[in-house]
Amino acid sequence: MSDNDTAVFEIFPWNRNFETGIDEIDQQHRVLVEILNRLAWHFASSTSELQCDHILDELLAYAAYHFKAEEELWEAALGDQEMVRNHHDGHQLFFVQIQMFRSSKEPEEKVMAELFNYLTRWLAFHILESDRRMALTIKAVERGLSIPEARKDVDSELSGVVSVMVSALLEIYSKLSAGTIQLMREKMARLRAEDELARLQHDKLSAALEQQATDHEEQLQFLAYSDPVTGLMNRNGMLREIRHVIQQEQLPRESVALISIDLDNFHKVNARFGEECADRLLGVLARRWKDAMVQGGQLARISGDEFVVLLLDSGKVESQLTALRLTAEQPFVLNGGSISMAFTAGVVRFPHDGADDGDTILRQADHTLFRAKQEQKGSWLFLDADAQRQSVVRQQLLADVREGLIENQFLLLYQPKVCLRSGRVIGVEALIRWDHPDKGILSPIDFLPALEHHPLMVDIGEWVIDQALRQMSVWDSEGLALDVGVNIAAVHLQHPNFVARLARALDYYPQVAPHRLDLEILETAALGELDKASDIIRDCESLGVTFSLDDFGTGYSSLSYLKQLPVNTLKIDQGFVNGALSNADDIAILKGIIGLANAFDRNLVAEGVETMEHGKLLIRLGCYDAQGYAIARPMKPEKIAAWKKQWRPYPEWSAGETIKQ
Ligand code: C2E
Ligand code: MG
Ligand code: MG
Repeated sequence: MSDNDTAVFEIFPWNRNFETGIDEIDQQHRVLVEILNRLAWHFASSTSELQCDHILDELLAYAAYHFKAEEELWEAALGDQEMVRNHHDGHQLFFVQIQMFRSSKEPEEKVMAELFNYLTRWLAFHILESDRRMALTIKAVERGLSIPEARKDVDSELSGVVSVMVSALLEIYSKLSAGTIQLMREKMARLRAEDELARLQHDKLSAALEQQATDHEEQLQFLAYSDPVTGLMNRNGMLREIRHVIQQEQLPRESVALISIDLDNFHKVNARFGEECADRLLGVLARRWKDAMVQGGQLARISGDEFVVLLLDSGKVESQLTALRLTAEQPFVLNGGSISMAFTAGVVRFPHDGADDGDTILRQADHTLFRAKQEQKGSWLFLDADAQRQSVVRQQLLADVREGLIENQFLLLYQPKVCLRSGRVIGVEALIRWDHPDKGILSPIDFLPALEHHPLMVDIGEWVIDQALRQMSVWDSEGLALDVGVNIAAVHLQHPNFVARLARALDYYPQVAPHRLDLEILETAALGELDKASDIIRDCESLGVTFSLDDFGTGYSSLSYLKQLPVNTLKIDQGFVNGALSNADDIAILKGIIGLANAFDRNLVAEGVETMEHGKLLIRLGCYDAQGYAIARPMKPEKIAAWKKQWRPYPEWSAGETIKQ
């Protein structure tokens, strides 16, 4: 409520009839009226009693001042008249009256209502009757009338219509006083209620907002540390837990265990029942496993079909894994069938040397899981002392690779791919080498396996792509336009930024047409969900690049890869080519692969053509493009031009015939 409201609520509105014609007096009357209105407003709005008392004091003090001024004026104009004395007595009576109100023992409400009634009536009467009469008399005297003449004159002026008007006004003001006070009180009560409501609403709103903020934060926490499919912790959540454990002081060696779990053949569940159903299965499995946790065990799902268990008591690993196995084997009923699950696991006990952070421990568990899968699916394997030592060696190697990348210690060799019959060079394959400061030139087998599943593989891959494109543009400028194949690890292809980064690399070498870059996908078995992989391949193909499946025939399910992955070329693994000269089975496989390539309309390149005989055999079977030592070994880029100049295919190849199958 602001003081402006006082203006709206006037218990005593000023009226022209209140003007006496004497400015000084009118001025003072206005002040009195203003104080009275203010008093009424404060009373109605129930501000403190003390405040009302102060205003009443102010009114009395001003009245005293006003009365004195008036009396002096009257006396100066009219002398010591009875009329002036009566006026003075009237003033004194006013103070007595007010004093009576103030000392009244009646309830405050009642006293105040009467006080206001009195004050309005008194003020109206005082101004309209007494003061106006006095002022008119003075005016008449000033006009030259004697005082008795003047009184008579004024008496007649204030009788009749005017006196009716005065009594009507008095009546009105008296009613107005009571009515307005009531109205004011109601309005004030309403305003107070509104204020209170607003305050309550504000409080409520603040509380609601606070709750919402808390909910939001909880939600964010949930998103950051939980897996939406199963409601378990996610990788971050698990890392946080491991960190908490590691931070404990005097944690006995190998007292805690981390188990990395991978469901066997989960992609088959996906393929057979669809993703939605597969997610539901994960949810049910998560619930079962949560119930099967031994004391101090925590469960997380860290990616598609990978789970992790943290056990505060590493002695319970076996019983925990057995419990998980039993619950997973219980059939899950899904749309259109029932299925039971199996898993493979890798276990790391810590703390131990060479693992002082969650990431490393998780990676070690993962790596152990990987080895377990290689040894036997459905088993579990512990990271043993030997493996631990290896892990330490691996950590060192990773650090060295990282440094090697910075120090530019890597290089690419290029091995030609040719058409065996015509001798035409169809391109070259880029093959990485590490010019190690202590160990000399290292082959990929010496360092790439250690990078398996490691982000550094992505860094290496980026470097390879960039380096190959750069080499192409150098060759272009020398008039040696060669198509280049680069090897791409599965983790690299699946990196969320793979397509964008490839696009950026291609943009950086605009003179190199993208179709001249072929991406050879390695370890197709590690590609995981084929739908996703084929989406990535399609996205890359829309940039113009082509794809080959490397080492074709070695993966355990090559046919389904071939069916689902939109690649242009199959590279026959060198093992089959090598064995084919002495092994009938390998010949059969070669025939099979060549038949598949024809049926699916894919190009073929055979690897490992070490001798003239290998080439002859391939031609006979209907595979014409190849690479191998019999054609050229991998070489430095600056040697390619000279090699190309002298390169001739064996005459036996040019003359070779294909046997119709
Ligand atoms: P790959 O992609 O199948 O490459 C062919 C490998 O066979 C190369 O070995 C090559 O030198 C070798 N080779 C070629 N002709 C013959 C032959 O007639 N007989 C025999 N026995 N071997 C032959 P390299 O260079 O040691 O590479 C081995 C593997 O390392 C590659 O197999 C590929 O899987 C991987 N690799 C090579 N470079 C890279 C790379 O830049 N990035 C990634 N991620 N992997 C790479
Ligand atoms: Mg390759
Ligand atoms: Mg290969």
